[in-house]
Amino acid sequence: CALNPQATVSDACASYSDLDKLNDRLHSYVHNLANNTDFFSYYRLNLYNKECPFWSDENGLCGNIACAVTTVENEEDVPAIWRAEELGKLEGPQAKHPGRQQQRELRRPLLGNLGEDVGESCVVEYDDECDDRDYCVPEDESASAKGDYVSLAENPERFTGYAGEGAHQVWEAIYRENCFSRPLARDQSGIAPGLSTAPPSGLSPNQAQAALDFKQVMKAHGREQALQSGELEDAMALEDECLEKRVFYRVISGMHAAISTHLCYDYLNQSTGEWGPNLRCYKERLHQHPERIANLYFNYAFVLRAVGKLKDYVQDYTFCTGDPIQDQRTKQMIRTLADAIPSGPQIFDESVMFQDHTADGISLKEDFRNRFRNVSRIMDCVGCDKCRLWGKVQTAGFGTALKVLFEFGNGNAGEDKPILRRTELVALINTLDKISSALKAIDHFREMMAAELASE
Ligand code: FAD
Repeated sequence: CALNPQATVSDACASYSDLDKLNDRLHSYVHNLANNTDFFSYYRLNLYNKECPFWSDENGLCGNIACAVTTVENEEDVPAIWRAEELGKLEGPQAKHPGRQQQRELRRPLLGNLGEDVGESCVVEYDDECDDRDYCVPEDESASAKGDYVSLAENPERFTGYAGEGAHQVWEAIYRENCFSRPLARDQSGIAPGLSTAPPSGLSPNQAQAALDFKQVMKAHGREQALQSGELEDAMALEDECLEKRVFYRVISGMHAAISTHLCYDYLNQSTGEWGPNLRCYKERLHQHPERIANLYFNYAFVLRAVGKLKDYVQDYTFCTGDPIQDQRTKQMIRTLADAIPSGPQIFDESVMFQDHTADGISLKEDFRNRFRNVSRIMDCVGCDKCRLWGKVQTAGFGTALKVLFEFGNGNAGEDKPILRRTELVALINTLDKISSALKAIDHFREMMAAELASE
């Protein structure tokens, strides 16, 4: 299974079954690690007190169907709107973040248990300090007020009703961070709203060949359905882009695909009040866009490779849950997981990236890093609590994967590795769990489609 970032869309599809097999082996282990350990099932973030730095929050909310204006104007919509609003809220206990002083006090007995010679500080205490090798803005970088702890297990990512202008504005802003301003949603003219540039027109001979290959692979995988020409063009245009830009786009698109999968899989039927998989939702958002599914697989390989590289790093990591026995168990679980991931460039070969420098002196890596940081800032513009929570967790997870892949060297002893904050590690493992669960959900949707076909 060689999922090389240089691979074209069609190459990525060729490794579906290998990654599926790997996921069959790893899924329950990852899910258990993310949901049933104290360390990984709580996340600290500043969810409510950060303003959207790009446009007025009010605009973001007004696009939401939970917008109050709609409530007043259309009485009929009140119950549905109320539901959408309620659905987007967080549930379960939310512990306040302990202040610095309290953290120091908490840390003392912990260090006592572990021995004063434990060289590393408790990462909880210093997790708001920034490193210039970060790909994400640390959660509380700019705010003096600390964030809250949120139980991730009690706030599953699912359908919330967040949609419309507000959600589109956020997605559009995210895709625009892609260096080459990729068009997002197309209107009838094929031009993305708000963009003056037309999408690529016509395919080069190479692209045309790639398009044929792409269709062949889709056929081999039983995805013969018609591709929207715009999406196909988008996919093919990627073949001509520089490697790093392509990776950036695929990470974002794969994350978008994972979110879509979760909301379709845990969907609320508003007439029956029941939660469950919505096959139509899957068909429209994913099945009819195979390149989105390809990007989800791409992300799986990408994040797995990063987790695999943590094996030696976590050996000296201080987990700080306050329970050394549990910390030891958590550490062992990560090592076991990392051991189970094929090492070397078998899964994903990051060594080919960031070899060139741009003429103006800014390295491509720096540019990439800055753009990814912007994506993490855009998450403060998401107008639904639960969506914002998972949007932040997942961008932080990809940011951590990027940091591990591109700032940790080759894993050799003596290399200067940046410290991973608790929030970064938690985000990484939970992001892996989200992708892994999304792949399982897609498996289930495929079975549902097969059953539907058989019954016709
Ligand atoms: P959208 O998903 O909004 O997509 C907009 C456009 O992007 C599409 O028209 C298409 O052209 C393009 N596009 C779609 N998918 C991809 C892809 N994978 N790759 C490339 N291009 C693509 N809703 C929930 O119910 N639960 C959630 O937890 C949730 N979390 C969210 C988190 C974030 C950060 C954001 C921005 C939104 C979230 N939403 C969530 C809303 C959800 O993602 C959709 O925006 C909403 O359901 C409306 O969907 P849509 O069909 O209009 O298309």
